[in-house]
Amino acid sequence: MSGPYDLRRDQLAALLAGEPSYRVDQVWEGLWEQGRRPAEMTSLPRAVRARLEEGLPPALQRVSQSRADRGATVKWLWALADGARIETVLMRYPGRATVCVSSQAGCALGCTFCATGQGGFSRHLTAGEIVEQVVAARREAAPARLSNVVFMGMGEPLANYDRVWAAIVSLHDRLGLSARHLTVSTVGVVPGIRRLAAEELPVNLAVSLHAANDALRDRLVPLNRRYPLSLLVETCRQYLAAKGRRLSFEWALISGVNDRPGDAAELSDIARPLGAHVNLIPLNPTPGFLARGTPPAGVRAFRDRLLELGVNATVRRNRGTDIDAACGQLAARHAAGGGPHAATRRSMPN
Ligand code: SAH
Ligand code: SF4
Repeated sequence: MSGPYDLRRDQLAALLAGEPSYRVDQVWEGLWEQGRRPAEMTSLPRAVRARLEEGLPPALQRVSQSRADRGATVKWLWALADGARIETVLMRYPGRATVCVSSQAGCALGCTFCATGQGGFSRHLTAGEIVEQVVAARREAAPARLSNVVFMGMGEPLANYDRVWAAIVSLHDRLGLSARHLTVSTVGVVPGIRRLAAEELPVNLAVSLHAANDALRDRLVPLNRRYPLSLLVETCRQYLAAKGRRLSFEWALISGVNDRPGDAAELSDIARPLGAHVNLIPLNPTPGFLARGTPPAGVRAFRDRLLELGVNATVRRNRGTDIDAACGQLAARHAAGGGPHAATRRSMPN
């Protein structure tokens, strides 16, 4: 499986064998600087374009595009060459834009409250399939600058480490995105965090915590049974020591489950010593999980409790809920066969 953004320059040159070498530069710039598909490279001779359209089809075919928040949020559903489906979300802010990319088609880690997790795993994305999502979003965002990339779409980026890292290097070296504007979100793949800590580019790390005791976290995030909190927290500490980047914790507030004063106290015991920032977001509804998101007043109360305890906490605005583009809602619902198992609605697992 590979697309135009999986190709190295020498491979592109091989594809254009027989053409003058400036054609290679022209196509390379068309792809990376202008974000064009070969079919749109109108300055190329028709025969060259045809050859590229044949030999270098886009990795992502648009199935649908939806808008919310008066056009500020755009979600795409893409079909990959083998039929797998993924989603990408663009979020515009005044003067800039952030794209939320998928790193896998589906996810194998099965967090109970997450639509992607409920649908199971299809496959890893290639680096080029990840990069192409960013290129598409950058075009849509223009004239605003696409400045930030967050790996918070479908999939667990650190379970697809090599391809995700190759994508990050391309985003940095070829698309000119700064490492401090790239954020990898993980549910706690400890070996992956260790590898990240050893890399040269200091990207931001977001850890999806959701519970600050093992009994509750085991139920929400099955991976916690493999990498329990004490190990995860120690690994976060090592990441901070190695990188000096801001660490953030994601916390989806679930009514009556992890939004009580005791939960805030437990969370602060973990977050405060690390100087971690906590991003709060009310749980988004998903087909397979019955519990509800904490209502707005409860969200504010939880945030205020954290602030009182000396923890930096902000409530994240919930973008694109009405088009199922918000965190954890991505499920490629139009999937032909394979899609999420929408049939079984679970209540809180015990
Ligand atoms: N696998 C990675 C990144 C993708 S999930 C991870 O889990 O961090 C992106 C974010 O959405 C994570 O913080 C995840 O916990 C959160 N999320 C998943 N389901 C959600 C839901 N139903 N409501 C709110 N946030 C959710
Ligand atoms: Fe996978 Fe992240 Fe969803 Fe968990 S929350 S199932 S790790 S995508």
